[in-house]
Amino acid sequence: MPRLILASRNAHKAEEISAILGDGFTVQTLAKFPTAPEVVEDGDTFAANAVKKATETAAWLGDQALGQARPDLVLADDSGLAVDALGGAPGVRSARYAGGDGNAPDAANNAKLLRELDGVPDGNRGAQFQCVLALAALGQAAEAVTFDGICRGTIAQAQSGQGGFGYDPLFIPDGHNLSFAELGRDVKNRISHRARALAKLAGYFALN
Ligand code: IMP
Repeated sequence: MPRLILASRNAHKAEEISAILGDGFTVQTLAKFPTAPEVVEDGDTFAANAVKKATETAAWLGDQALGQARPDLVLADDSGLAVDALGGAPGVRSARYAGGDGNAPDAANNAKLLRELDGVPDGNRGAQFQCVLALAALGQAAEAVTFDGICRGTIAQAQSGQGGFGYDPLFIPDGHNLSFAELGRDVKNRISHRARALAKLAGYFALN
């Protein structure tokens, strides 16, 4: 069974990835490694940031004495929301949308998105969640393979629901009338951008 370690401190992403991958994988998080370096996400694309997170974390972990618990592979997730009427914003800046350089609270990011879309009619509120996963073996010369997933939907006029994280209370996936936060974990984990990228990852393991 492949042992993956997630190059992310986002507990929501880790929960979703573990739940979607299910029993075929052992998934660890960076929680055990508080001294792991914080990767600067300065790429222009989700793929660039995902590869950077995976390879830098793989290089660092490759230098650690990990013993029995040594994971086989590092998995990084870079993801975000691209809104059509905003030319693809917030995009790679999704976590930092309402902040300067640092991450902003979800509530502030959601409030900013609603302000930016103030007056934009329902028919012009199309958007997509995007996820790029990067997978790298432990070690300094790590190279990464990537898998991507997209989920189309629209941005609601107001937040609704308590589930999920990030922009979930504002995102209504195509084919549904409720937000990701209202639809709940099982529905989200079947159709989300992350689920679609993870399905490709599972296919890669099935073939390799
Ligand atoms: P990252 O950790 O730099 O990849 O930032 C991802 C950001 O994109 C999160 O902080 C959220 O704001 C947003 N995001 C990514 N995936 C999701 C999702 O599944 N639901 C809601 N927001 C998401």
